[in-house]
Amino acid sequence: MAVSKRQNTLQDKIVHSLEEKKMLIPVAFLAVLLIDIVIFYGTLLSPQSFCFGLVGIGILTPYGLILFRITNPKKLLILVTVLFLILAPLFTVMSVENVYSNEPVLYSSDSTLKQGTVDPYIGNGENSSFDFTVLISSKYLEKENTSFNVYLNITDMNGKKSQYNMSLIKNGTYLEYQKTLDLDKGVYTFFFALKSKNATATSWKNTTLYDGVLNGVLNVEKGDFIIASLPMMYMATFMYFGFLSYIIVGMYWWTRIAKERKRRMVTVKKEEGSSGGLKCPVCGNPISEGTETCPYCGAELEHEEDEEEHGSSHEEQVGEDEAEE
Ligand SMILES: [Zn+2]
Repeated sequence: MAVSKRQNTLQDKIVHSLEEKKMLIPVAFLAVLLIDIVIFYGTLLSPQSFCFGLVGIGILTPYGLILFRITNPKKLLILVTVLFLILAPLFTVMSVENVYSNEPVLYSSDSTLKQGTVDPYIGNGENSSFDFTVLISSKYLEKENTSFNVYLNITDMNGKKSQYNMSLIKNGTYLEYQKTLDLDKGVYTFFFALKSKNATATSWKNTTLYDGVLNGVLNVEKGDFIIASLPMMYMATFMYFGFLSYIIVGMYWWTRIAKERKRRMVTVKKEEGSSGGLKCPVCGNPISEGTETCPYCGAELEHEEDEEEHGSSHEEQVGEDEAEE
């Protein structure tokens, strides 16, 4: 019977490949992470490196624990969970500290708009005044010979967007535009926009962030911001770290169960001379062909394959004849 082969396919292959390439995944990952930090982002705290780093921790943690001979799947689950619970608030504090220490300076991609800033960057957490300023190259405007407006665009924490006209406060090589706003407690993101019009078209230029980590106004106490960011950071940490760790621990658990099962498996033999019925080798009760678990004693069963060299079908026939006499 080909029944026994069914249990040795996918699960066994995965177990085998995991054992063969135990170190390949973490080593490859570390290498990529290093390249990522050194070449592309320069710092572990950039959002991309941060997410990538989390993915790395998610993969390396269970691997590391297993390599250090913590092989009990339940223990692994607990350790991974504890790490996840500690990491999320740690990352929240780190990222909030980073946001509070990086004042944003905004530019448009072609530098028509530059030095877009807000003063103060961090408010006192109550209704306070903020001066938004941006510079425009007058050379650009002479060249284009257009009429134009400058806007401040601001989005609050609930996603509500507002747009304000800015006023010219200084003329020169650069035109300085300003808008003073009273803002309630909260975190606001902002950018500046230049809308220019000539005879044929209207075009917009927007600033983006070239510096810092958040083009925002922080009119909120640091502690409040940490608490407010915690749920999101838990989600991000789970998405990048927790989820992967659990998958790896789950797969490890699964392969261990597969191995354990294989080890416990009892081979069902087609006994010569019997009248065709199979018996459980453990409890002796009759079972049908292809049964994987004995319904009487729960033994894991592996079925012996038909082997032609025994000439079993012929012998069985003879045995049956003898039994009839
Ligand atoms: Zn049995």
